[in-house]
Amino acid sequence: MNSFSQKLIKWYQNNKRDLPWRKTNDAYLIWLSEIILQQTRVEQGLAYYLKFASAFPTVQHLAKAENEEVMKLWQGLGYYSRARNLHTTAKIIVSKYKGKFPGNHVDILSLKGIGDYTAAAIASFAYNQPYAVVDGNVYRVLARVYGIDTPIDSSQGKKEFGLLANELISEKHPAIHNQAIMEFGAIQCKPVSPNCEDCPLIAMCFAHQHKSVSSFPVKSKTTKVRNRYFNYIVLNQKRLVVINKRINKDIWTNLYDFPVIETEKEQTEDELFSSSEWKRFFGKNRFNVTSITKANKHILSHQHIYARFIEIECLSPIKKICPNSAILINQEEIQKYAVPRLVELYLINKEKQLST
Ligand code: SF4
Repeated sequence: MNSFSQKLIKWYQNNKRDLPWRKTNDAYLIWLSEIILQQTRVEQGLAYYLKFASAFPTVQHLAKAENEEVMKLWQGLGYYSRARNLHTTAKIIVSKYKGKFPGNHVDILSLKGIGDYTAAAIASFAYNQPYAVVDGNVYRVLARVYGIDTPIDSSQGKKEFGLLANELISEKHPAIHNQAIMEFGAIQCKPVSPNCEDCPLIAMCFAHQHKSVSSFPVKSKTTKVRNRYFNYIVLNQKRLVVINKRINKDIWTNLYDFPVIETEKEQTEDELFSSSEWKRFFGKNRFNVTSITKANKHILSHQHIYARFIEIECLSPIKKICPNSAILINQEEIQKYAVPRLVELYLINKEKQLST
C-alpha cells in the first residue's frame, strides 16, 4: 500500500464519524445515502437517510411507493431531481435486475441519476472494487497535497484528478481508502481553516510547504446567479385554497406551490397590482388582498428567488379565479403535498400566526 493511502486509512480509523451507512454493505442503502448526501451536509442528510431507510427498507419498497410519497419525504432537501431519479431507478432495478442492485461498474453507471462519483462509491463501498471516488473533498485534498493547479471544473482537471485518484487507491482496501479520503477532506483538510498543524500528510503536502493552502483547489469559472421574483397568489375562500403542481421544466418539477406571477425585477405593490399580468389573472372577478408578506430571499445554487405571498380572499366564486391548471383543496389538506422549502416556511409562519 502506498504511504498516502496508509496514512489516510490510519487517520480514518482514529477520527471517522459514526454514520449508519458506513455500517452496511447493502448496495441499495449505500446508493440511498450517496444520493441524499450529494450537495447536502452530513448533519442534514442523516435525518433524511434515516427517514428513507425506515419508510423504504429495500429497493422493492421504494419501487412500489407512490411518487407523491417519495417527494413528500424528500421535502426540504432540495435538488428534487435526485428524488425523481431515485424512484425511477428503483423501479428499473426491480424490473431489469430482479430487485438486486447491479454489482458491475458499467451497469451501475448506466442507471439514471448515477454519475462517475456515485458509481465508484457504490462499487467500492458495497462490492469492494477499486474505483476511486472523486468528489469536492477529494479534489481539495489531492490539489493541496500534490500541488495541482489545473482547474477542477475543466475537463482536463477532471481527467487529471481522476487518473491520480485511481493511481493512489489501495487495491487491497478500496472501500476504506475511499471513505478515508472523503472523510479527511470533510473534517481535516476543510475548505477554510484546515487542521494543518495536526495533519498526518503535512510532510508530503505541497500547499502547506509553499504556504499556499488557500490557493488550492483552483476553479476556472464563477457561477452565474439569476435573480427571480415570485409573487405567489394565495387564493382563499372559506376553507378552500388553490394550489399549483409545477409541471414545467423548471426548478421544483412535480412539487406543489401556489399560482405565481413572476417578474423580471422587484416591483412595488402598486406596480404589480396595475400590471397586465395581474389584471389578466383576476379579470373582472372581485377579491380583497388580505395580507402581503415581505419578499424573502431563497438561495439555490444558480438562482436567488425573492418570494412574497399575497393572500387573497375571493369575493367572486373561487373556481372562476382559479387558473385551469390549478387544484382546489381544503386548506388543511396542503400538509399532504410536497412543497418547496420556501412554501413550507410560509405555511409554518402562517400556522404560528394563527395559533397566537
Ligand atoms: S497539511 Fe493542511 S492542507 Fe495539507 S493535507 Fe494536511 S490539512 Fe490539508
